[in-house]
Formats: sequence, C-alpha cells, structure tokens
Amino acid sequence: MVAGGGIGGLAAALALARKNFRVLVLEQAHEFGEIGAGIQLAPNAWHAIDALGVGELVKKEAVFIERMLMMDGVSGEKVIDIPLDERFARRFGNPYAVTHRADIHGALLDGCRASKLIELRSSTRVTGFEIEDGVKISIEKSEPIAGGALIGADGGRSVIREAIVGDPEPPISGHMCYRAVLKADEVPKELRWAAATLWAAHNTHIVHYPLRGWKLFNLVATVIGKHSSGGHNEEASPEEVLPLFAHYCEKPTALMRTPNSFKRWMLRYREPVANWSRGPVTLLGDAAHFMLQYMAQGAAMALEDAICLATCADAMNGDFENAFREYQRLRLTRASRVQISANSLIGLIFHAADGVPRLVRNDIYRNRSPESYYDALDWIFTAPDYVRNFSGKSGRGRSARPSASRTASSRARARSQGSRARAARPLRRRPSPRKP
Ligand SMILES: Cc1cc2nc3c(=O)[nH]c(=O)nc-3n(C[C@H](O)[C@H](O)[C@H](O)COP(=O)(O)OP(=O)(O)OC[C@H]3O[C@@H](n4cnc5c(N)ncnc54)[C@H](O)[C@@H]3O)c2cc1C
Repeated sequence: MVAGGGIGGLAAALALARKNFRVLVLEQAHEFGEIGAGIQLAPNAWHAIDALGVGELVKKEAVFIERMLMMDGVSGEKVIDIPLDERFARRFGNPYAVTHRADIHGALLDGCRASKLIELRSSTRVTGFEIEDGVKISIEKSEPIAGGALIGADGGRSVIREAIVGDPEPPISGHMCYRAVLKADEVPKELRWAAATLWAAHNTHIVHYPLRGWKLFNLVATVIGKHSSGGHNEEASPEEVLPLFAHYCEKPTALMRTPNSFKRWMLRYREPVANWSRGPVTLLGDAAHFMLQYMAQGAAMALEDAICLATCADAMNGDFENAFREYQRLRLTRASRVQISANSLIGLIFHAADGVPRLVRNDIYRNRSPESYYDALDWIFTAPDYVRNFSGKSGRGRSARPSASRTASSRARARSQGSRARAARPLRRRPSPRKP
C-alpha cells in the first residue's frame, strides 16, 4: 500500500508494478492531481522518469532549456552561466528540462492507470497503521485496510512519519514564496530566455523559466521574513509582494509587475533523520526528507527513492522488512545531502546581503568554466546506478541477501498462499507462472 498519490507515491507504485508487485495507492484528495506550477527536472530526474517508462510522455511538453543562470538582482550582472548543451547532456546522460507539474504527475498517473497491478483510490485519508502480520492501516471514515507493506509517500506533513520518526510538525520557516504562472506573451520580451534564471538579492530571490512548449512562464519569488500565515496556495496581491522585492533592478522588477495576483506558499522543511522505516513500513519523498526547494531536487529525490525501493523489494523477493532496510541504507546519505545543501545555498549565495557579501559572491562565481560547474554538480546530476540500471524486468530475488531473511520471507509467502484474501492483499508479488 502507498499512502499519498503525489509524484513520489505514483512513482513508487509504478516502479513496484514494473517489478511485478500489486500496489494500492490511497490519496486523501477527491482527485489525483498536482498544483498548477512548474518544476525543474535535472538529468538524474530524467533517468528515473525514463526508467518508469513515462519519459516520452513527460518530454512532449517539457522545455529543454539552454542554460542555468544566476543574475545579480541589484546590478543585473550575470554571475553564473551554466550551458546545458550537448556537453552537459553527454556528461550526465540526459538533458535538463522544465515542465508543468501537471504534465509529470499526469504522465505518472496515466502509467499507473494503464497497469493492471495498480489500484488508485482517491478520497481516502490514511490516519495511522499497525504492524500485524503485514500492515493494517486505518482510514478516516472507513474500514481499515490490510496489506503486506506500507510506503508513506504522504508529503511533508506525513502521518506515517509521525508514527515512525515522531518529530513534531515541520515548523513554519519564515521562507515564503510567491508563485505565478504567466502566459508567455505577458512576459517582458527581454526576459523570454531559454534558461532557468535565478535573480539573487538580499534576503530574496526570483526564479523564472518557460513552460509547456513556451506557452507559459513559471515565476517563483522567495523571501525570508515575517510570515502572515502558515498556509499554502493562498491569494496574495501585488501590493503585498512588490515592496518585498523593491531592491531589484529594472528587468526582474518588470517581470514581478506582470501578475495580477500571486499564490503565497509558506515553506516548511525538516532536518535529516537517521531512520525512515519500521518493519514493513517506510517513508519516501517529502515524507522522508522534506527540503527547501532551492536545489530543485525534491521531486527528483522522490523519483530516485521510488526506483531504489522497487529495486530492493525485487532483490529481496518481496521481503519488505529487509528491502526497506536496504532502501534506507542506499538513499539516506544522498537525500540528506541534498536536504542540507538546499539550506546552505541561501545565506552566502542566493540571499547574500547587499554590499561586500554580494561583491564577494559575484567574485567567487564569475568566469568559472562550464566544466567546473559540471564537476561541482556531478554528485547530484549523475543518477545512482540503481536508477541507471533499473529495468522493468523482475530480477526475482537474484541479488544477494541474508539467508535468514530469505527463510523468513519464504515462510511468510508459504503462509499467505493458503488464504485467498491474503493473496489479494496489496503489495504482494503478482502470481506468475515462473514462480517456484
Ligand atoms: C516552490 C517549490 C518549488 C519546487 N521546485 C522543484 C523543482 O524544480 N524540482 C524538484 O525536483 N522539486 C521541486 N520541489 C519539490 C517537490 O515539489 C516535492 O519534493 C515533491 O513534489 C514531493 O513529492 P511527494 O509525492 O513526496 O509529496 P507531495 O507532493 O506532498 O504528495 C503527497 C501526497 O499525499 C497526499 N496525502 C497527504 N497526507 C495523506 C494521508 N494522510 N492519506 C492519504 N494521502 C495523503 C497529498 O494529498 C499529496 O497528494 C519544489 C517545491 C516547492 C515548494
């Protein structure tokens, strides 16, 4: 069972189904969907999307931008310029692209709907779980559901995490972002760049890039300060937003004046923790490693998690307890490194104070070669082997695993074969003629 039908939950379902597991996805919302905004997809994310078999679908509307830019928001100077050309694609095995969230979520959803092994249930809010010969989950206003394992992909305020990690709700961080999606022809001509552009200035930054085959533009302006509420997706007027970015030079200011209204998001995040799992229950995506968006890697990490988790479940032949242990071992350091790096980008780089800190920042980054950026980004943009080598075929437990766990899971499988109800429980391997 998977709690949560966001990018992470759907990717997990798809990855598991490609390894021949049956999956039930439970989503609290009335419909499976994503908010109307853009998302950047780095090469490591594309490797995962391709591995899930939906790459072509997502690429249809994606814009393959030509560069990543960081501009000094005060002087207008170009500080960082990373070409995303052939050299880049050759180095990382995939390009960098931007897309609408609905397009990637929709492609994953189509993939799930096309699979006979995946059942999708909306209007189903998971409220907790018990570990009891597998897992029994409680559902708001409905009967509990039993299954072989549970993946908490229920986002940054995960109830599954509450039971496993027990840390308090992620605090209101003071990081606020204002989002708008504009029609391309509303955007000032001189900013219609084929680039993911970040304007950096004291305590704030502004990101923009084209979307949906250049029909739309995504705009996200972030500020750290006093928050007016802890909510997200709330209306915010230009009168609220523009004074916060009054220290910017003309070009980004012209862009900020374009939307008639913004959507305000109060950003939250968590510090990394050393454990995401309890027995046959684990966490994935934001539920496991809720981060600030400054590395543009939260969804990419959720996609990588999904692939890794399915690979481990396959290698352990459905022994989820051991599979989740291995999944966590493989994912924890990488995801936590991104989580920590996202925080560190703010102080000295994106939000450097005006005056000497800004001049020093520009001096550090100005005139670096593309290769020096590629080297610095290598650890993140190079997809891990389990993502690069993922195939739709099941390895059927061919990977090495401890013999004790093999016996335990074989016993569990033997027990479950006697009961039709159990055999029908989600997250069980589909009976196959090749099964020994
Ligand atoms: C401003 C901003 C910009 C970003 N830009 C990028 C980017 O460019 N690139 C990138 O890779 N990442 C980016 N991210 C991060 C990315 O959006 C997230 O990391 C990613 O969407 C997490 O996916 P998820 O499926 O783990 O969680 P979510 O998207 O939060 O999905 C969780 C799902 O679970 C459901 N749910 C919650 N609780 C329950 C429950 N109890 N029972 C059942 N269902 C439940 C929710 O309704 C939701 O559908 C950005 C984030 C922000 C805020």
